[in-house]
Amino acid sequence: QEVINRIAAGEVIQRPSSAIKELLENSLDAKSTSITIQIKEGGLKQIRIIDNGHGIKVEDLPLLCERFTTSKLRSFEDLQQISTFGFRGEALASISHVAHISIITKTPDSSCAYKACYADGALSPCGRDGNKDPQPCAGTNGTQINVEDLFYNVLTRKRAFGNANKEFRRIVDVVSKYSILNNHVSFTCKRHDQKSPTLHTSQTTNRTNTIQNIYGANLASQLITFSFENTDYPHSVEAIISNTIYSMKKFLFILFINNRLVDNVSLKKAVESAYSAYLQRGVHPFVFLSIKIPPNNLDVNIHPTKKEVRFLHEEKIIESIQEQIMKKLQESSS
Ligand code: ADP
Ligand code: MG
Repeated sequence: QEVINRIAAGEVIQRPSSAIKELLENSLDAKSTSITIQIKEGGLKQIRIIDNGHGIKVEDLPLLCERFTTSKLRSFEDLQQISTFGFRGEALASISHVAHISIITKTPDSSCAYKACYADGALSPCGRDGNKDPQPCAGTNGTQINVEDLFYNVLTRKRAFGNANKEFRRIVDVVSKYSILNNHVSFTCKRHDQKSPTLHTSQTTNRTNTIQNIYGANLASQLITFSFENTDYPHSVEAIISNTIYSMKKFLFILFINNRLVDNVSLKKAVESAYSAYLQRGVHPFVFLSIKIPPNNLDVNIHPTKKEVRFLHEEKIIESIQEQIMKKLQESSS
């Protein structure tokens, strides 16, 4: 059974950056305004994420890493979401089957923080005394999660990540993208042995400020921002795209659907071809899209942790996004 759990967990958590993505989303769900991430050896030795969100109640700690344990399904609407968006409560469980987790968390109404440790979906002792119960300790409001020795029990997987720097760059890339979507949150990402962070964003009211912080003022000064809604094929889109002049090193396509970083190959291709009529050779665009779709229009059969996402009226929606982008590029280049 443990082997099966481990294989299932490996499907959800494929590499350090996929663990980061899940942990980030949890911190954001907890309404954090500040999130700090510290990485040791590309995340394989340690991932530490510290947030100032609403914390976890001590009575929720014992079952926290059990599969399908979630605090996010309370209303009927939420129940509808589970039947459509698929699975919930799998991230921490999965991580606990392929790593050691320790958590320190404090809710605002608790007088102290609590520490708990996990392995294989259940509480495990934090110290040598063998006691598994969450222990009171000092701490500030919010949650600190340590993930240590990722894939320690899946050696084939662990060996696949030879280059810690490369994994660290992937992590920074994921955090950067989430920081653009969540510009009202301050993000810090650093290697444990570094003094100054590789990525640091402040809370800002404007996504282009965050883009400027990460990709530079040159790009930020060449952006076109627009949004639109469509009620026939219900969706809304917020777009920030580079004009026909500015060029990235390569085409950078950032896609969020319902606040989750995903891929959609057809949409990416459609966006690329929208540019092709206006671009000189060797010019690579920057495109950030945040699309909202009613959750019951997302494909049920695709696991939410899989990056590629399909949705209802996909062709129509892609077409309308392509059209809008072409329109904006034409306006800006004429
Ligand atoms: P899900 O996010 O689908 O509920 P997870 O396995 O990602 O499942 O998390 C399980 C539960 O742990 C969440 O529902 C939430 O209650 C709690 N949790 C995890 N991380 C945090 C955090 N950073 N702050 C507050 N609560 C958290
Ligand atoms: Mg989660």
